[in-house]
Amino acid sequence: MSGVLVVTGASRGIGAACARLGAARGFRVCVNYHSSPDRAEAVVAAIEASGGEALAVAGDMGREDDIVALFETVDRELGPLTALINNAGTAGSIGRLDEVAADDIHTVFDLNLIGPFLCAREAVRRMSSRHGGQGGVIVNITSAAAKLGGAGQYLHYAASKAGLEAFCHGLGLEVATEGIRVVGIRPGMIDTEMHARMGMPDRLAELTPAVPMARAGTAEEVAETALWLIGDGASYVTATTIEVTGGR
Ligand code: NAP
Repeated sequence: MSGVLVVTGASRGIGAACARLGAARGFRVCVNYHSSPDRAEAVVAAIEASGGEALAVAGDMGREDDIVALFETVDRELGPLTALINNAGTAGSIGRLDEVAADDIHTVFDLNLIGPFLCAREAVRRMSSRHGGQGGVIVNITSAAAKLGGAGQYLHYAASKAGLEAFCHGLGLEVATEGIRVVGIRPGMIDTEMHARMGMPDRLAELTPAVPMARAGTAEEVAETALWLIGDGASYVTATTIEVTGGR
């Protein structure tokens, strides 16, 4: 594979795994980060050490001006966009609906839903045949929470991810004849820092017995699915979301 891949939230976890695998498969990769420049530079350094090409680009993917600036940087520094992985996301604060603050709901929806809308808009403007583009693929990282609902923990997170799946389906239909495929990945319990950062460091150990495969997934397993979806092997797959949940 060749071309340019943007991965939002790629300084660690699933995003970093997607960036590393994308580079290994031949993409020039934009490694977006928000608050962890050292971690993003470490991802870039690892890619370069393996003979790949990558660029760390700062930006809050919940903010339109940062999103527009990121895609302009990519145009300038890496070349025409081929694929986008909307990965950056947050669960926000944990709690029941009757405890949640409006600001937390806005933060979660800004990053998990509005941001992917705007990133996808920038991608469509560059990749759609309607705009003279060569086509491409948009992958949205959703969550099993979209199906499970997040009761007692994070209704806002679950609802934002369910919205992202609806967006994935609708945008996939909208651009189906313009050379762009739009697909979602719905991960289950994946072993990243996200759980500890949510204030639940034991979450994986507590919940994996309920996973049919009896283990958490890895960021690399999600990345493998993302890169398969981007590649020609998935050329007839669009407007849908695929589960990577170990059966949960
Ligand atoms: P993670 O380890 O917490 O990593 C989150 C990434 O998002 C970091 O690179 C972080 O970068 C970046 N980020 C946070 N706020 C950002 C912002 N405003 N703008 C740009 N980047 C931002 O999480 P993860 O587990 O890899 O999760 C990645 C995606 O998978 C998320 O969308 C998450 O909802 C989804 N997911 C995860 C699981 C799971 O079990 N882990 C399950 C289902 C879905 P900085 O540190 O630089 O800010």
